[in-house]
Amino acid sequence: RSCLKTFLCICSCMSLPDFCNSASSQQGEVESGTRRKLNRLLSFQRFFHASRLLRGLASHSPGSLHILDNDYLGQAAHMLSKVETWNFDIFLFDRLTNGNSLVTLMCHLFNVCDLIHHFQLDMVKLHRFLGMVQDDYHSNNPYHNAVHAADVTQAMYCYMKEPRLAEQLTPLDGFLGLMAAAAHDVDHPGVNQPFLMKTRHHLASLYQNTSVLESHHWRSTVGMLRESGLLSHLPANISQDIEQQLGSLILATDISRQNEFLVTFREHLDNQDLDLQLASHRHFMLQIALKCADVCNPCRDWELSRQWSERVCEEFYRQGDLERKLNMEISPLCDKLTDSVPAVQIGFISYIVQPLFQEWQRFTEPSLLSQMMMSNLHKNKDRWSRLWCVHAASETQPHSEDENKWIRRKGFSTEVDGSQKLFAQS
Ligand SMILES: [Zn+2]
Repeated sequence: RSCLKTFLCICSCMSLPDFCNSASSQQGEVESGTRRKLNRLLSFQRFFHASRLLRGLASHSPGSLHILDNDYLGQAAHMLSKVETWNFDIFLFDRLTNGNSLVTLMCHLFNVCDLIHHFQLDMVKLHRFLGMVQDDYHSNNPYHNAVHAADVTQAMYCYMKEPRLAEQLTPLDGFLGLMAAAAHDVDHPGVNQPFLMKTRHHLASLYQNTSVLESHHWRSTVGMLRESGLLSHLPANISQDIEQQLGSLILATDISRQNEFLVTFREHLDNQDLDLQLASHRHFMLQIALKCADVCNPCRDWELSRQWSERVCEEFYRQGDLERKLNMEISPLCDKLTDSVPAVQIGFISYIVQPLFQEWQRFTEPSLLSQMMMSNLHKNKDRWSRLWCVHAASETQPHSEDENKWIRRKGFSTEVDGSQKLFAQS
C-alpha cells in the first residue's frame, strides 16, 4: 500500500507540469523535491540531536521545545507557550522554525496533551510520520501548503480547548482531532476537484469524482501512518478504527457537503440534544470543529486574515491562468481579470464562514474566543467591502445581492452532489 501511495504521489506531482508542458516548471518540481528531501534530512538531524526526546525524557512542556534550533529557541518557545491564543502568528512561527512549523507544533501539542505517553508512541516514528506529512504538502502552493495545515491544527487545538468540548473529549478524540487537522490537505495539488475532473486526472477516476481531494488526503495519511509504523504497536482493530475515524474527519472538510453538516448542526442546537458523552456526538463535533478550523481565516486578526486571503486567491488565479493557457473555461473565482480578492472574500465570508460560525458561537457560548472571532469576522468583512468599493465602484456590490443571484452570476451551484466545489479554499 505504501508503494501504491508513493506511486500515486509521484503521479500527481508529475501530471501538473505535464499540463503546462514547461521545462522550467519541471525544473522547479525537481528543485522543490530536492529541497524537500534536504529539509526532511535537516529536520531529522535536528531531531536526532534532541537527545532528551530520543531518550523519552521529555513528557511535558517545555520539554518539547528542545527540538527547536537554539538560535530561535527563545522566540519560538515563547510563541509555543501561548499556543492557545487566537492571534498566534503562524507565518512568524514557520520562519522561526525554519519551515518546520507543522512538525514542531504537532510535537508540542502531542506533548502538552500527554498523547505520547497515553498511546505509548515511539518518538522516532512520530517524528518520521510528521516529517512525511509536512514534506508531502507542496511548498510551492501559495495556500494549500504545510503552513495552512499548521494554522488549521493551531485553530483546532483552540476549539478543542473550548470548555464545553474540552470537558468531554477523550485522549483518542484529542489524537484524532490534531492528526486530522495536520493531515487534512496533504499532497494537495493546488487545483480543485472540478479541474481534476475536466482534465481527467487519475485521482478523479480513482475516487469516482466524489470527494476526490479529501479521499486522496485521507488515503495518503493512512499510507504514511502504515509506512512509519506509528500505530503498529496497537491492536489491529484499534489502528483500523483510528484510520476510519481520520477518514470521516478529513472527508468532512469537503465544502460541497457544507449544507449537509450545517443543517444537522443547526438541528442539534435547536433541539438541544447534543450529548457529548456519546462517542458519535463527540465525533460529529470534531467534524464541525475541523470544518471551522479549516475556514477560520476570516476570523483571524486582519493582518493574518489578509495574508491568507491573498494566498488563496493567488492559488485560484494560478489555476485560472492554467485553464486559460489550455483553452479551457476558467473556473469560478479563478479569473484574475474579473475576480478581485475583496469580491472573492466577501462571498466566502457571507455564504460559507458566517453561517457556520454563527452556529459554532451558539454551541460554545459563553465563549470569549467565539466573540472575538465573530468580531474579527465582521470587521474583516467591512474592510473587504470598503476595499471592494475602491476596486470596482461601477459594479454592484456582491454582498448586496442575494445568495442565489451571486451564485448564478458565478455559474456554479452549491448542490451537495460532489461535482461542483463552491470554494476550493478549504
Ligand atoms: Zn484546508
